Amino acid sequence: MKNAIPDGPVTPEEFRRHLAELMQQHLASERSARSRTDAGEGATAEEGESSFEFSRTPKEVKAYLDRFVIKQEEAKKVLSVALCDHYHHVRLALAGNSQPNYAKQNILLVGPTGVGKTYLVRSLADLIGVPFVKADATKFSETGYVGGDVEDLVRELLRRANGDVKRAQYGIIYIDEIDKIAAAPNVQGRDVSGRGVQTNLLKLMEETDVSARSPNDIAGQLQALMEFTQRGRKPPEVINTKHILFIVSGAFTGLENIVRRRLREATIGFAARPGTPTHDHEIVARASTRDFIEYGFEPEFIGRLPVRVYCHPLSTDDLFNILKSSEGSIIRQYEQTFAAYGIEVLFADDGLQRIAELAAEEQTGARGLMTVCERVFRDFKFELPSTHVKRFVVTREIVDNPRAALERLLAENEAEERAILRGIVHEFADRFQKEHGLKLVFTTAAIDKLIELAAKSHQPLRNLCAERFKDYQFGLKLVYQNTGRSEFTIDVDTVEHPDKALNDWVVTSYRPTSQTNPKSEG
Ligand code: ADP
Repeated sequence: MKNAIPDGPVTPEEFRRHLAELMQQHLASERSARSRTDAGEGATAEEGESSFEFSRTPKEVKAYLDRFVIKQEEAKKVLSVALCDHYHHVRLALAGNSQPNYAKQNILLVGPTGVGKTYLVRSLADLIGVPFVKADATKFSETGYVGGDVEDLVRELLRRANGDVKRAQYGIIYIDEIDKIAAAPNVQGRDVSGRGVQTNLLKLMEETDVSARSPNDIAGQLQALMEFTQRGRKPPEVINTKHILFIVSGAFTGLENIVRRRLREATIGFAARPGTPTHDHEIVARASTRDFIEYGFEPEFIGRLPVRVYCHPLSTDDLFNILKSSEGSIIRQYEQTFAAYGIEVLFADDGLQRIAELAAEEQTGARGLMTVCERVFRDFKFELPSTHVKRFVVTREIVDNPRAALERLLAENEAEERAILRGIVHEFADRFQKEHGLKLVFTTAAIDKLIELAAKSHQPLRNLCAERFKDYQFGLKLVYQNTGRSEFTIDVDTVEHPDKALNDWVVTSYRPTSQTNPKSEG
């Protein structure tokens, strides 16, 4: 909106200025509205009402996720089912066929960083076309004075829905780092206000009306008032959170110890059953409501998250598959970046494998792929656009030592380019001989000088040759007539001072005791 007071602290003067601007705007638009009415125009049409269609099956949803998200099979399945349940329910409710005892399928996603949690949720929101907001739980505080107010999430959803309250009311709110608001007193480093934030979130997850404008947003309130007076239509006041799908996630470090202890207690006196998990992530996948409560969550809060999904760490092979076959693979981005400069980049499997291996060492899941690629391609992105390199293949060697590989590529390119340019000078000499019957023999150093001069003057080499030796056919023909010589060596001096060299040849050829110019002997 125009003239909204910027975020952050505002001085009284700034506030007064904004207020005055808003008032002026208001008066101006009131005047133009009056003149429109005088001209016989009707009131503005109602904004398009959004209808909600949803007819997907869990299998369709999963098939869509498979295109982007590699592995996480169980998570994709559970999410697809929960999502379909939720949106079929929403569709029915919006059509007036609400199921009275329906429990919302809010989701708790557990898994380490960079394994696709956000990617899953974002892909789902894209597929069904609902507004989506992501935030970190750590930025909220209980009172909303320090940090944000959880209700801002709902208002943000409205903004993402372009002010369409109906769409905002069935959007998706995704809150990461939820484990950081666990309030277990015995666990260090926890936010003491975590419990309060949980309570506030709980209200949203159940059902509450959130004001479309923050009580602190005075400018926004004023604008709403003006819209009301201008359009004669009350702007939406509240957003109901009943159908908003909440997905929360976190790495839940340490949860495995709680689960392990419980599992151990449960098996005391019995021999450990075969198939008892040993890896942390397998243990975490067994977490029960009780374990989450022990971790520091209010029973009501965790109870509102009935769908629990576990995302597993990604192996090197998974990372390789992400690069190779995910539709959102980062290598597509690099292909496009280089293509913008007319450069084709090809990825060999051993190159992808090496990127995956190095990314796995980063221990940040698929995020490691971005870190490694950025490091590998940094210099290529800088250097190649200003060379004639048109294609390169990303191999294991390039990934292991990008700088050396780049230098080699540039050297190869230079050698290739030089060979082509030398060919151009030889072509010039051939044409000269055909047209004028006189042979120009360029020394290698002379050719390199011509290449250098052409590059410096940003001139095509062909044009430079034509220009430098434009009078040669006339002068050398005289020399030929006077002396019978038809072959001339062009050295660096001649390239640098072509007129002087030609002049010397001509003058010498007129001398009665004409001695052969050493240069002319070829
Ligand atoms: P987090 O689990 O921390 O939410 P993200 O979903 O944000 O991680 O992952 C970061 C990026 O890594 C994603 O945008 C995506 O490009 C890539 N990525 C992560 N996991 C996967 C996966 N399983 N399949 C494909 N790409 C993935």
